[in-house]
Amino acid sequence: MSHQPVRVRLAPSPSGYLHVGTARTAIANFLFARHFGGQFLIRIEDTDASRSDKALIEPILSALKWLGLQWDSDIIYQSLRLELYGEKARQVLDSGHAYRCFCSPDQLEKDRRIAKEKKLPLHYNRRCLNLTEVDIEEKLSNGEPFAIRIKIPEGETTFTDMVSGQLRRANTEIEDFVIARSDGSATYNMAVVVDDHDMGITHVIRGNDHITNTFKQIHIYRALGYELPQFGHIPLILRPDKRKVSKRLGDKDVEQYKNEGILPEAMFNFLCLLGWSPKTDREIYTADELIEIFTPDNFNTSNAIFDEEKLVAFNREHILKKTDHELATLVAPLLIESGCTTKYWLETRWEYLRAVIRALKDRVRRLTDFVTLGNYFFSFDYHYDEQAVEKTFTPESGTLLSELTGRFELLSEFTHENTESTLDELAEDKGIKRAKLIHPTRLAVSGVPGGPGLYDILVLLTKPVVIERMRKAVTYIENKYH
Ligand code: GLU
Repeated sequence: MSHQPVRVRLAPSPSGYLHVGTARTAIANFLFARHFGGQFLIRIEDTDASRSDKALIEPILSALKWLGLQWDSDIIYQSLRLELYGEKARQVLDSGHAYRCFCSPDQLEKDRRIAKEKKLPLHYNRRCLNLTEVDIEEKLSNGEPFAIRIKIPEGETTFTDMVSGQLRRANTEIEDFVIARSDGSATYNMAVVVDDHDMGITHVIRGNDHITNTFKQIHIYRALGYELPQFGHIPLILRPDKRKVSKRLGDKDVEQYKNEGILPEAMFNFLCLLGWSPKTDREIYTADELIEIFTPDNFNTSNAIFDEEKLVAFNREHILKKTDHELATLVAPLLIESGCTTKYWLETRWEYLRAVIRALKDRVRRLTDFVTLGNYFFSFDYHYDEQAVEKTFTPESGTLLSELTGRFELLSEFTHENTESTLDELAEDKGIKRAKLIHPTRLAVSGVPGGPGLYDILVLLTKPVVIERMRKAVTYIENKYH
């Protein structure tokens, strides 16, 4: 590592939302910056007006914030710097590292077709490389449009990648690519180099699908006399079908996972470990712990598969790390949104919400599970699970529930011990197994056959609610068999 203060960046193009691939690149840069006490910057690559959508910038930034990836300093927008890129391309031309290419799109297309037929490389054939001064002057005075192409020297291009070590490419494989189009506008690689230089970027960390660009960009750095940053190309995230994650294939916006009950801490942890290894068996870390132990030596070199089941497993662990109060704050809006309760109802029952969360915590994998598994704690409007009704709400269970309701009514203290012993006694008096009482009672008060311990549910719901629900179930059973 050099001793310059670290400055890294994420450079999203607003042509789509933030998917897990870009989020992972963002996390790698963020950890790198924070570990070394450097700066994490954002640059919006919005030069391609036809593919950029201003409306997508905000969602990208919002997803980054959701992940906790707060950036330093103002955001750089490439669309505001177009003139500068054009000037720099001219500078490369004037320095002799580039040349004017007067080939028309039709001509280039024809050349490519011929090369294809002859099975030759499809690279530009350098027709304009050796135009004489006179030729050039003539074309210019005729007003012929020209692009600027960089002149790739002979030899090979090498650099030491932070992830993969020494990478090399024969220069015959890097074409004399266009750095400015005939309308004077600079191309993508040109803009990236100018920005990375101006922003003082010390380490360019991006997906390994950019390696080809890096080989090209190195020639622009050299032509402009800029010092090269260090490059690190991290492996890509693949879908389970081994294809690269992309918006086109319907991969999700990172923030969509929020709506599916995933914690940002879990997403951060999971994505970090998809491309980087702490070199221990431990998997669950907070962002601060990852910042602390991060080292650029431990990037994986192979592409990783995004397994949503694994993300959910990470999520469960991060849910367990949260306090009941923290979870209550996160779950309350979900309950309100689901319609099973209201803001006002919850406001006066914060303790109750925390207790429900405590009871359910072991069973949830997503935050949204608190709603699906626990809606009956808030709503009287729950339905009985149909299969469970067939199995559990027998005519006999109606009579038993009715008797148990009577005994519960007599309890002055509605505690775990008292409800349990009341149920046990009734089972004993009737000479039946406790299950014959437990299952219908559970179904009566919750509508579902599973969940936290029955007596915990009863105590949480409180005596009047339990009695009311049991009575309702008795009526339901009576009606069912009449
Ligand atoms: N805009 C590029 C992308 O979204 C990133 C370019 C870079 O990191 O240099 O893939």
